[in-house]
Amino acid sequence: MQMSDSTIGIDAPGDSEAEVARVMQICNACRYCEGFCAVFPAMTRRIEFGKADAHYLANLCHNCGSCLHACQYAPPHEFVLNVPRAMARLRGKTYADYAWPSCMGAAYRHAGGSLVLALLASLLLFALLPAGQVFQSVDRPGDFFALFPHGTLVWMFGAVFAFAALALGVGVGRFWREVSPGVPNVPAASEAARSILTLKYLDGGHGEGCNNEDDAFSLWRRNFHHLTFYGFLLCFAATLAATVYHYVLGIPAPYALNSVPVLLGTAGGIGLVVGPAGQLWSNLRRHPLHGDPAQRPLDRGFMVLLLLTSASGLALLAWRDTVAMGVLLVVHLGAVMAFFLTLPYGKFAHGIYRSAALLKWAIEKRQASGLKLGSD
Ligand code: SF4
Ligand code: SF4
Repeated sequence: MQMSDSTIGIDAPGDSEAEVARVMQICNACRYCEGFCAVFPAMTRRIEFGKADAHYLANLCHNCGSCLHACQYAPPHEFVLNVPRAMARLRGKTYADYAWPSCMGAAYRHAGGSLVLALLASLLLFALLPAGQVFQSVDRPGDFFALFPHGTLVWMFGAVFAFAALALGVGVGRFWREVSPGVPNVPAASEAARSILTLKYLDGGHGEGCNNEDDAFSLWRRNFHHLTFYGFLLCFAATLAATVYHYVLGIPAPYALNSVPVLLGTAGGIGLVVGPAGQLWSNLRRHPLHGDPAQRPLDRGFMVLLLLTSASGLALLAWRDTVAMGVLLVVHLGAVMAFFLTLPYGKFAHGIYRSAALLKWAIEKRQASGLKLGSD
C-alpha cells in the first residue's frame, strides 16, 4: 500500500493503551494479517484488551512494519490504523511504567538526555580517576591496570552491573506478573528460546523479511540485529574468559592477540560495529510511519553508544602499545560504564521484555483458548 508523506503525523486519538485496544478491535474483525507474527494469533484469543493485554501484545510486536504496508485501513484511511506505531508507543510506556525504582521511569521518557548525561559523567569519571596520567606513557605497554587498578574496575563495574540486573529483573518481574503468563514448561521455553535466538518474527511471517523504507521486504534488519546480539554475547564471553585467565589461571592482562579473550572480544567487537552501524543506517531510512518518532533518541542513542563502545574497544586493541592507550582506555571504559548505567533504563530493555512476551505466547498457545473463536 502506498502512503504519502502527507500522512505523516496523523495519529489516532487516545492514550497508548486505549489506542492499542482500538487497533486490536479493528484487526480482530479483519484478521488479514493473522500469519504475519505472533501478535495476531494472540489477539484472536481475546475480545477485550485491558492494560495487561495491551502491554503484552505491544511487547510481542517486533515492529517489522508488515501489517502497516498490508493494511487497507492505514493512513490516509479515516481509521488511521497504524499497528506498529500503536505498539511502539505502548512499548515505550511499558518500560517507563514497570521501571524500578519507579522514579527512574523518567529516564525512558528522556532517553536521549539520560544517555548523554550517563556518557559524559562516565567519561569525566574515568578521565579524572588516574589523576592526569592518561596522557603519559606507562611503564608496561598495553597494561591497562597501570592506570586503573584491576580491583577498582571489578568493584565499579560489578556493582553497577549488579544494580542494573536487579533493576531490570524487578521491572520485567512486575510486567510478567501483570500479564499472567501461566507456568513455563520445557516445550514452551524451547520454542521461545528459538524465537529469540533466530529473531523469528523479523522475517515478516513469509521468510522474506521486514519492511523498512517502503513496501519491499528485506532481511537486513534481522541480519544487523543478529550481528549486534551475537556480537554482544561474544564480548560477554570474552569478559568471562578474561576472568578465568585472571583468577583461575593466574595470567594477568594484557593478553596475546591469539588468546581466547582477545579472539572472542575481537569477533564480538566487529559484530558490535557492523550490527549497530547497520541498524542505525536502517533506522535513518525507515518509513516515517513506522515506530514511534518520540523514541528515536532512545533507539539511535543506543546504537551510537554500542558503536562507541565497540569501536573504542577495537581501537584500544590496535593501539594499546602506544601513547594513545590512556585516552582510548578512558573512552572505552566511559562508554562501557554508560552502557551499564543505562542498561535497565534504555533500549536494551526491549530485548528482555520481548523475550518475556515471547515466552508468554509460547505458554499461552499451548493452553486451550477460552473463546474458541480463533485459529487456535
Ligand atoms: S493491520 Fe489492517 S489488514 Fe492487518 S489485520 Fe489489522 S485491520 Fe486487517
Ligand atoms: S509490525 Fe510486524 S510484528 Fe508488529 S504487529 Fe505488525 S506484523 Fe506483527
